[in-house]
Amino acid sequence: MIGKFARGYSAIPNPLPDDAFVFLVSPSAEILLSQRDGTLHIPTVVDLNFLLQIQQLPIRPIYLGKIGQQICIADTISAAVKTTILGDASAKWRFEPIRSARSLLDEDVYTCVWLSQHLTAWNESSRFCGYCGAGMAFTTDSSGTWCKKCTSPACLSPFVFPRTNPCIIASIIRLPDAECPHPRILLSRSRARPLFFSVNAGFVEACEPLEGAVTREIQEEVGLQVRNIQYFGSTSWAPSCSLMVAYTTEYAGGELRPDGEEIECAYWLTADEIQADLALTESATPPPPDMVRPAPGGKTRPLIRLPMKWSISRMLVDAFMHPEQHSRMCRGEQAARLLALAPHVGLVAPMAHTATL
Ligand SMILES: [Zn+2]
Repeated sequence: MIGKFARGYSAIPNPLPDDAFVFLVSPSAEILLSQRDGTLHIPTVVDLNFLLQIQQLPIRPIYLGKIGQQICIADTISAAVKTTILGDASAKWRFEPIRSARSLLDEDVYTCVWLSQHLTAWNESSRFCGYCGAGMAFTTDSSGTWCKKCTSPACLSPFVFPRTNPCIIASIIRLPDAECPHPRILLSRSRARPLFFSVNAGFVEACEPLEGAVTREIQEEVGLQVRNIQYFGSTSWAPSCSLMVAYTTEYAGGELRPDGEEIECAYWLTADEIQADLALTESATPPPPDMVRPAPGGKTRPLIRLPMKWSISRMLVDAFMHPEQHSRMCRGEQAARLLALAPHVGLVAPMAHTATL
């Protein structure tokens, strides 16, 4: 633990303080770490002096705030600079994929990594004015960029601030019916992430309410209708500069029909079925990826692998499997229905609504 992160807004100091942390993001969404004394660190300005001296840094630095008393800045690097770093013998350098860095770093440090990914991606895509094509300059507090030259009448404001794209992500829970005496959740596998099963998600369209996006995405992706749409929580998703707004929903009708484009397959699963698969896929010796399970109609289905536990998609699945640990899951009409089933599925009463995501 090196201190709490506090977001801040300021011009980049010139020169940079020697002890400033530098969050360098590579073109392939990796964060640069240095290994010292057997542990991984975010490099400081002193560590990166060899790049500053040959003017390969800074490129377009962004002020993030402070961890304790130390300034944090983010910057992007080119593939050529990455090669220079890997050739440097002054330290043991490591480019770690940002998603997997979560398990290696202090939570406050990882918050900065996540923020760095979002802001550097925005920074790269907003280098030039969309109206006149001139280069954009940072505002004095680095909270955004602006075009000093813009005279276009279409430009209502020359300022551009980091953009967040709203997405929805929603679980679909099917209460006991003639097909199955236990509650089930729909888990889908997308073509984009063929290793994992998850709940349905998608971007919110222009002028569309969040709940409208939930019903539309589910109808489009798996052909189902849902009701009882309940807010679950939200989280940023830096890889796509998104804010993911999560909901639980209840199956209301329709025949399961994956669209074959975004969703290649989807299955209704009970908590016990998921748990049995996780006992294998999250064991110390996971089975081969092509192992299958029996599925209805004499068919087979892939083994269930779930996203990382800190992702909101995983929290939605965990909330279905262990609602006693996720009070946000159990609200309103759906809460009453699930709790009424408690003797059958081992649910317990939800805790007070104080849990945080
Ligand atoms: Zn302009």
